[in-house]
Amino acid sequence: MDSIDMKRLRGILNAMAEKIITNRDHLNDVDAGIGDADHGTGMAQSFAKARDKLAASQENDAAAVLLKAFGSGIMGGGGGASGALFSGIYLEGAKAIAGKSELYPTDIAAWWRAGLEVVKSRGKAKPGDKTMVDALEPAVKALEDNASRGLADQALAALEAARAGVEATKNMVAGQGRSRYAGERSLGQQDAGATSVALLFESLAENIK
Ligand code: ADP
Ligand code: MG
Repeated sequence: MDSIDMKRLRGILNAMAEKIITNRDHLNDVDAGIGDADHGTGMAQSFAKARDKLAASQENDAAAVLLKAFGSGIMGGGGGASGALFSGIYLEGAKAIAGKSELYPTDIAAWWRAGLEVVKSRGKAKPGDKTMVDALEPAVKALEDNASRGLADQALAALEAARAGVEATKNMVAGQGRSRYAGERSLGQQDAGATSVALLFESLAENIK
C-alpha cells in the first residue's frame, strides 16, 4: 500500500480510539506513578467521543474533514491537560493536509509535524521535560526521515522511535505538567502522555501493512 484512502483513514482513526480505550487502566496506572492517575480515564473518554464524532461524519472524500471531526471529538471529550494537546494533533494535522483525499508518506509526516508544533507551542514543554513531546518529537522525525521508504516502514520507524522516547522518559525529571511536583520521585517512571503517543503509533503501524 503506498497511499491511504479515506476508508482506510477511518479505519486507522477508529483503531487509534480503540487502542486508547482498551489501555485506559494501563494509562491510569502509568499516571499514578507521578501524576493523579486519571490520564487513561480522560484519554478514553476523549477518544470515545472522537470515534463517535467520526462515525457521525458522512464525509468520505476529504482527509481534513475526518481529522477535524476526530480532533473536535477529543477536544470536547473533557480529558485533562492532555485533551487540548492531543486534539491539536488532529485539528492542526487537518490544516496540514487540507484538500487531500489520498495520504502519502509525506502527508502523514506533515500531519504529525503540525501536531507536534502545536503541542509544543501550547504546552511549552521542551524535549527532556518528561512529557508526550519526548515520544512525539522523535516519532515525527522518524516519519520525516523514513517517508521515502513507503508507508509501512515509515510507520514502523515512527513506532520504534516513539517507544524509545517512552523509555527515555524514565530517566527524566518532570519539568512540565502535574508530575513536575513529583520532582526527583519521577525518576524511574515513564510518562503517561508519552505512553499514549506510542499507543497511537502502534495502531498506525498495525493498520498499515
Ligand atoms: P492532567 O495533568 O490534567 O491530569 P493527564 O493526566 O490527562 O492530565 O495528562 C498528563 C500528561 O499530559 C503527562 O503525562 C504529559 O505527557 C502531558 N502533559 C502535561 N502537561 C504538558 C505540557 N505542558 N506539554 C506537553 N505535555 C504535557
Ligand atoms: Mg493526570
